[in-house]
Amino acid sequence: MSIDTVPEADPRIPFPHADTALACRAHPGRFVYEHGDTSADTTGRIDQARAACRSCPIVNGCLKWALANPELTVTGIWAATTPRQRTTLRRRLQDRLGPDWVGVVAQQERARAQRRQEQRLNPLSVADRAMADLAPAPHPMWGSHYEPWREPLTPERQQRNRDVLLLGLTGRTA
Ligand code: SF4
Repeated sequence: MSIDTVPEADPRIPFPHADTALACRAHPGRFVYEHGDTSADTTGRIDQARAACRSCPIVNGCLKWALANPELTVTGIWAATTPRQRTTLRRRLQDRLGPDWVGVVAQQERARAQRRQEQRLNPLSVADRAMADLAPAPHPMWGSHYEPWREPLTPERQQRNRDVLLLGLTGRTA
């Protein structure tokens, strides 16, 4: 393949920064995998690669990047997944978030980064943090079934949660 034909990475989900050395860069041969290769040697090697991914500090970001860039991850182990598993996960994300699921995930990432920035500048009180913990952010490994409780926690949703609890506790609205 000439350099001109190498597909470009989707800029909406950049590969995450890592402060530590990555196992896939230190031992790239362990992460080589073609669908259908079931030799004992490959199976042992893949197990090692997956174990390394599971303890990798950027595994979640790596998975999102790998899912958003199918042409760059046709083969190999990325974030402990095989090519076939990534295809399944992309299908689930498309079912759940629609054809522009990469854009939706990127938007969720931006919102999450903005929330983290806001919380650094204006830390949540203990009570607010407890409220925020009530609704965890979604993860691409989750299934396609709809779970309202696991919707992304936006500022609007936080406010709605607070309103509902206040109403339940006091019978009053804010
Ligand atoms: S999770 Fe991704 S970055 Fe980390 S070792 Fe695995 S393939 Fe490399």
